[in-house]
Amino acid sequence: MAYDPNNIFARMVRGEIPCVKVFEDAETLAFMDIMPQSDGHTLVIPKVAGENLFETAPESVAAAIRTTQRVARAVQRAFSAPGVVVTQFNGQTAGQTVFHLHFHVIPVYTAGAWRPHARDKADPLVLEAHAARIRAALGG
Ligand code: AMP
Repeated sequence: MAYDPNNIFARMVRGEIPCVKVFEDAETLAFMDIMPQSDGHTLVIPKVAGENLFETAPESVAAAIRTTQRVARAVQRAFSAPGVVVTQFNGQTAGQTVFHLHFHVIPVYTAGAWRPHARDKADPLVLEAHAARIRAALGG
């Protein structure tokens, strides 16, 4: 499948649609997942076009992983999460629903217990409050 430059994450990178941002640098963007699997669920993307892990330049994958590590630390700290899962899906069969490379950072509070993937939309005010906690943890 060819990369669709109008996928939702590409449009966020271009500032065409909003996201609840927690971090941004020249190469990457991190924002709250709109249908979080747990409180604090954050997504990290490289800014360059790339459908998945295979179709993205290694340097951009490396930049995204650096940000993922940084954001995961902040999420863990902000929510005092005893566990954090990082996931990344390649292809519809694997569960990918947005075709721009992204890493999920999902805090886990109870072993094995998190909400279904991409199903229930969170209250925007709650997402904004969670993002503020993560931004504060990133700064500290
Ligand atoms: P995946 O299924 O791995 O491709 O993940 C895509 C993720 O993007 C899902 O967890 C969705 O909940 C999330 N998502 C979809 N639309 C938005 C949006 N507008 N803002 C933030 N997250 C989104």
